[in-house]
Amino acid sequence: MLRRVFQPGMIGRMRLPNRIVMGSMHLNLETRDDGGAAVAEFYAERARGGVGLIITGGCAVNRQGSGGRGYVVLSDPAQHDALARWATAVHAEGGRIALQLFHAGRLTSSRYTGLPPLGPSTVASRMFPDEPPVAMTTGQIEDTIADFARAAALAGELGFDAVEVMGSEGYLVNQFGSPLTNTRTDAWGGDARRRNRFALAVVAAIRDRVAGLPVLFRMSGDDLMPGSSTVDEQRAFAVELALAGVHAVNVGVGWHESRVPTVQGMVPPGTWSHYAAGVKLALAAERLAVPVITANRYTRLDQAERALAEGQADFVSMARPLLADPAIVAKARTNEPVNTCIACNEACIDRSLGDEPVSCVVNPRAGRELVFPRLTVRRARRYAVIGGGPAGMEAARALASLGNSVSLFEASSELGGQFRLARRVPGKADFGATIGYFTDELTRLGVDLRLDTPITTANLALIEQTDGVVLATGVTPRELDLPGADLPHVVRYPRAFREPESLGERVVIIGGGGIAVDLAHLLGHVPSPLDARTRFLVDHGLTEGPAPAPPSRSLTILRRQGRIGTGMGRSTRWAAVDALRRQGTELLSGVRCEAITPDGVCVTDETGTRRLIPADSVVVAIGQEPRATLLPLLANTGLPLQLVGGSASATGLNATRAFEDGLRAAHTL
Ligand code: SF4
Repeated sequence: MLRRVFQPGMIGRMRLPNRIVMGSMHLNLETRDDGGAAVAEFYAERARGGVGLIITGGCAVNRQGSGGRGYVVLSDPAQHDALARWATAVHAEGGRIALQLFHAGRLTSSRYTGLPPLGPSTVASRMFPDEPPVAMTTGQIEDTIADFARAAALAGELGFDAVEVMGSEGYLVNQFGSPLTNTRTDAWGGDARRRNRFALAVVAAIRDRVAGLPVLFRMSGDDLMPGSSTVDEQRAFAVELALAGVHAVNVGVGWHESRVPTVQGMVPPGTWSHYAAGVKLALAAERLAVPVITANRYTRLDQAERALAEGQADFVSMARPLLADPAIVAKARTNEPVNTCIACNEACIDRSLGDEPVSCVVNPRAGRELVFPRLTVRRARRYAVIGGGPAGMEAARALASLGNSVSLFEASSELGGQFRLARRVPGKADFGATIGYFTDELTRLGVDLRLDTPITTANLALIEQTDGVVLATGVTPRELDLPGADLPHVVRYPRAFREPESLGERVVIIGGGGIAVDLAHLLGHVPSPLDARTRFLVDHGLTEGPAPAPPSRSLTILRRQGRIGTGMGRSTRWAAVDALRRQGTELLSGVRCEAITPDGVCVTDETGTRRLIPADSVVVAIGQEPRATLLPLLANTGLPLQLVGGSASATGLNATRAFEDGLRAAHTL
């Protein structure tokens, strides 16, 4: 029962219809040469979906503060019309939108801005180690503060309902607050009060310039950087912000440089709510009634409801869940199936770190609302989709939502394809929610779901009367060509996922991609008496607790060349590999497998040394081949045909491409 989520709330003069705020996400669409159309439609769809407030991706207050090539620079008038279009589009749907005021500080490069990066002090970041920032002069500090104020005024003029100052994640304002990046000895550095002077001056300048405009401040509850500001200092800072006149504090956690995962699937939902709760207590102790927004790792509205009901915050920020399902709020009233964010980061955060437009693995329409409009076709046709993995599920969903009559034939007893394996991995249970969503949504859309129905020559008539076919039969594991590969203790990876208990105590996994990493997590997982959140906090040194029990198996991953986990996303690989190291998995790259014997795997390393790695079980995870055996049969039917996902090509296949293929096929047929 969602009661508190649907209570209206106030941030300054702004009345919000519910307690869900869409957190800032950089989309890499913001500076597209389309007059702001794509972003306007992206936000409009989320406003239509009922979210209380939308916060834009960070917009740089000046060119030097831009975080990359695709960032809006507010001091550039050429971009103002597009910004106004975003606000107008949201208002047309009855929504509210805040413009985020951003300055990257040292987290940028002259490659993007044409100017040297600035920072409080000359301390290089892990992202740009070769380009330490120039320590800002007093004049540059004052100019930047004025730029924030000018940008806030501009936001009001362009029709935005509020602004948010980006003061977390290790960007400029946060850099001033931290002793790690602010080693100044003048009036802008020193103790916490002096380091925070920059942030408070920004707030004061904005308040002076635009008195009535609501100002949210995105602060860091904990930088998760050894030696940075303490949690107590951050709480005291929140009080200072409230006294300076901010209308809400939005409590984030962690810097981009932190080695503690904050938003990956392995982070249990709600892990960080105590930081917002601490800020709320600190404000209450000073009788300051400034709303607190909690952020990071809320994927479902019931989690938001719990945080609100427990008094940890007044609003809940959800970002990626609104990529996965723009109508997550509205659907809570209609009980329609919700597409849950699986925290994979593949199409969102990983893309935002580069130049690719952001989208969502499980909702590939995200960011492409104009490319794939929600039109109902004039003349509904009949289509068959063969295969119910990610590509087939999305093809069937999109075809049906366009008004077509769709039958989906799946050889097994359940939809999901490779997601059925992934959901078994610790931290990936939500991959099962994707299967649940598509099963429910396809049913709701009237798709004729035929499980346990492989298409063969015998039942080809089932599809011959249709107007087109999508072939989505996925992949089959690549076979290992090695002496001993047919020994009984050698298994292919799908069986290892399905029957981990059948494997011995010493397991060697041949192949070092994402599937091998996932499998090692599954095989090395040790149940803990601690709840998942406490276990996570203990494992990352954020609270005290017993060390985890050692895994009952010894695990080794062998890769011929390259890094273990190659192919995984930039924001997830390091965290997954760190976790494997913590659980004691041996990660060997640069080894050539020579043979498998009943005792293990014979390998030669880069020095030419040959040795046996003992193993009771050997799992082969060396990639996949397309499964498209039906192709000749279907070609003979003469029906329009689309190949999607692994059936089309297994090279570079990942979930992002599979879902995208499905959507594209539906709009192509
Ligand atoms: Fe969530 Fe993955 Fe979609 Fe990003 S790409 S919004 S993490 S499901």
